[in-house]
Amino acid sequence: MNVIATDLDRTLIPNGSHRQTKNAMSLFKKLIKKNKTTLIFVTGRNERLLRDGIARYSLPTPKFAVALVGTLVYKFENGKLKEDASWKAVLAKEWRNLTRKDIARVLSGIKGIKQQELSKLNDFKQSYYVPLSIKPSSLLSKVRAKLRAKKIKATLIYSVDVNRKIGLLDVMPPSGNKQAALEHVLKKIFKTQRKEKNKVMFAGDSGNDIHALTSGYFGVLVKNASPSVKEKLLEIAKKKKLKGRVYIAKGNFVEPHSGKLLNGNYVSGIIEGAYRFGIFK
Ligand SMILES: [Mg+2]
Repeated sequence: MNVIATDLDRTLIPNGSHRQTKNAMSLFKKLIKKNKTTLIFVTGRNERLLRDGIARYSLPTPKFAVALVGTLVYKFENGKLKEDASWKAVLAKEWRNLTRKDIARVLSGIKGIKQQELSKLNDFKQSYYVPLSIKPSSLLSKVRAKLRAKKIKATLIYSVDVNRKIGLLDVMPPSGNKQAALEHVLKKIFKTQRKEKNKVMFAGDSGNDIHALTSGYFGVLVKNASPSVKEKLLEIAKKKKLKGRVYIAKGNFVEPHSGKLLNGNYVSGIIEGAYRFGIFK
């Protein structure tokens, strides 16, 4: 059994500025069926946006979805999303049954940061807006010190929303990330602790996908990724000696069964990569 795990926005979902090949999604659905490929979505979206995306872009139905950057795992049963309780238990244990509300209380004294909308939070993800005037390094050390004082271990992710010109801070349990959640799902699918490196391909488009793209599985970066992400991926792959296991879609690829010419953007890039690594035959 082979698995394709994929990011959604601008990877499987063609919602970027690049052109998509017409009908590439329906071809992908056929190939998934034909090759009996198991599909996993890995996304920052919450449940509502995940449902919206699936309906709006008529995506194939996955077996699992890792949502809200790894703090939630869903299983699809009879077309319905069901939260995976075993992942919730892992995260709850790491935070000793505290939730994001407790984290909010611990961090309440930090000036200038503002809690994000509830739709962007869950029990294991407490997130803030940070004005760009606040230096990330000093903010992170303040946050770390407050958490340490309460013996709370956490992953802190700081990023910048360039469109809205605002900093973003996520506070999550140590395993609250896409990669750890994906590993959890893969163990369930293969029913083994062993890493099935030659049976899994991850597809992505942006900087925050690089970790999963270079985690030892096959990794495909779609053609519409920015030049800086392409460069960074090759650099890290070289460092980790994974050069033969990562691939950047080039486009101009003819799908052998249909004869369809694919341009390498979004789902076309996923199909190209799947053939490259023998996931599709
Ligand atoms: Mg993306």
